[in-house]
Amino acid sequence: MKTGVRRRDLLALAAAPLLPGTALRAAAVPKIKDVSVIPTEPAGVRLVIVKVQTDQDGLYGYGCATFTQRADLVVEAVNRYLKPLVTGRPADAIEDLWNAMYNSSYWRNGPVLNNAISGIDQALWDIKGRQAGMPVYELLGGKCRRGAMIYSHAAGREISETLDEARKLMAGGVRAVRLQVGVPGMAAYGAPGQKKSGDDAAQQDPVFDPDAYVRRTLQLFEAARKELGGEVYLLHDVHERVPPRLAVQFAKDLEQFKLFFMEDALSPENIDYFRQIRAQCATPLAMGELFNNPHEWNMLIRESLIDYIRVHVTQAGGLTPCWKMAAMAEAFQVRTAWHGPGDVSPVGHCANVTLDVACPNFGIQEWTAPNERIQEVFDGYPVMKDGYAYANEKPGWGVEINAAAAAKYPFGFSERGDGKRLNGGWGVVRRPDGTVINQ
Ligand SMILES: [Mg+2]
Repeated sequence: MKTGVRRRDLLALAAAPLLPGTALRAAAVPKIKDVSVIPTEPAGVRLVIVKVQTDQDGLYGYGCATFTQRADLVVEAVNRYLKPLVTGRPADAIEDLWNAMYNSSYWRNGPVLNNAISGIDQALWDIKGRQAGMPVYELLGGKCRRGAMIYSHAAGREISETLDEARKLMAGGVRAVRLQVGVPGMAAYGAPGQKKSGDDAAQQDPVFDPDAYVRRTLQLFEAARKELGGEVYLLHDVHERVPPRLAVQFAKDLEQFKLFFMEDALSPENIDYFRQIRAQCATPLAMGELFNNPHEWNMLIRESLIDYIRVHVTQAGGLTPCWKMAAMAEAFQVRTAWHGPGDVSPVGHCANVTLDVACPNFGIQEWTAPNERIQEVFDGYPVMKDGYAYANEKPGWGVEINAAAAAKYPFGFSERGDGKRLNGGWGVVRRPDGTVINQ
């Protein structure tokens, strides 16, 4: 990969025509002139993008602020609270502005406010990269690897379907696959649900039986190791759906299948139980996509209770806190696996891959391929080839947004049923006895 061409000297830069959205750093520090929000749903998932405009011609940036289940609230938090706070302030003081936004609500660390902060934080990093004529990874010290190994999702109603999906991914060069499978007669996470039977059929909400799920998943991994072999990296997401005692047993039972990692075995409310899992088996553990708060990740990293920290970058407040989180994790041999599903915008995926290539303790990157509508709205989605994602080489995040295309896919345009009724929110999942459980 060519990196030298980006390190243009000032003379060459001054002589070159400016790229769209790029400006030389002038004597005057750019000031924030306007903040706006682009809400869009090109892939059927509500995405929130923040655009920060400076007082310098053509100098602006984009940030991801996607909390898809409460997207409208993030839009309001940006427009009504952060926009008036940051407008008129210097755009280059990212650390200072992050702390100003974080502290200005007094009550802090909630997902709505953290996502709103992230939208502006990431846009400021984009602006700084455009000013410098460099991708953001250069501002973090440059690359320490060519690309980021990714994992993709394989799922099916039946075990054979999941394994067929995995084979297709592996044939395409993917080296790490997350396996999920449906469970007869109930809903599942990350795999197609199946029809309810008996008394449960009368239940309106999806039903999930933790014990049946664990039994089925162990059968899946037994078949996977037999049929897919020992070389492919296998992952699994529990999605915090089982009680802590069952999670400890499940981690022990999975140990024989040598997973790359077991994800979200516990809910954030039960993280003390990681000590028990750690003490009883060597299954690698990943945790953190629901984390908002340093109190949630500090202890797990400091006590080396997990192997991968996999925070949703916008949920923690953007690039600024996550870069620090990665550095803290490095000191404890914890690696990164930033959350990368469809409810991360293309700008957010660029922030993920930026951290992936710039942080020495990178582990793996969850990968979601863009559909045609995403590519129509966003130019600059990271490229994935042969199982590795590559950072953009353009200044900033290297992303441009077609506002007219974004407006063609407003919130709710593709939603049906409960998704529409709940304004993009999620519903309820219950145990067979009717108890509400984690999503
Ligand atoms: Mg997950």
